[in-house]
Amino acid sequence: MPENGRKAFSKYFTMSFDDGITQDARIMDICRKYNMPCTFNLNTGLFGVNWPWVGEVLGKPGLSHQRYTEEEIRSGIYNGFDAEVHTLCHPSLAGNYGDNAEALIHEVGDDAKNIEALTGVAPLGMAYPGGREEDTSPFVIKTIVENTPVRFARLAVSQKNPEDFPLPDCFMKWYPSLAVVEMARCKELAKSFIAAVPVDRDLLFYVWGHGYDLDSENLWDEFEELVAMISAAPDVKCVSNADFYTLFKDKIPAVNF
Ligand SMILES: [Zn+2]
Repeated sequence: MPENGRKAFSKYFTMSFDDGITQDARIMDICRKYNMPCTFNLNTGLFGVNWPWVGEVLGKPGLSHQRYTEEEIRSGIYNGFDAEVHTLCHPSLAGNYGDNAEALIHEVGDDAKNIEALTGVAPLGMAYPGGREEDTSPFVIKTIVENTPVRFARLAVSQKNPEDFPLPDCFMKWYPSLAVVEMARCKELAKSFIAAVPVDRDLLFYVWGHGYDLDSENLWDEFEELVAMISAAPDVKCVSNADFYTLFKDKIPAVNF
């Protein structure tokens, strides 16, 4: 505590990227260069699977969506980074398993077990596949928290007020600040985040995406600029999703219903 007895507040930055695809290697290269932590959400039921349809849906035929194989992950490519759950096979939890606890526990709990077996680190959280609001029903959240080790879960829906840099209300409905495809806004917000003074509360800036977003929109240079800018800010604490959860798990509930 500072000498005047008032609590000091901090600014935290975190990122996560989904699907365990081959572009993650380039993200990790950039993160290593700037000593930036990063979280990767993996589907251990889809090792080595190629999804050309993602590029087709995005109007970018030929865009690579190639998942790493089990051997590649076992070889330690994610070592030094935070590997978390994205379910075994990437189903829509609301659409596929909205009322099927057994299937939900299998998808989430077994992905966590596989990740621990492959990386040696037990996952604490996840990103919802698809990440829509409807994938976070009370049934889905309750089933996950009561039956798996997962205690935080990120949506793919940005906050309504990212410029306020709010902390999550509860960890099982963790809204990110912005998607990395919104790069112009990400960079603008990064500047105001770096300038912000956390007077009466902690602040959090959370960027999420997929490695293919950086390919698709040719954002690699700007992504590196973003990482460089934030990592150079002396008062920003750059953390993985799991680091942030561990720091705040006693202050922010997993569930608030
Ligand atoms: Zn995904």
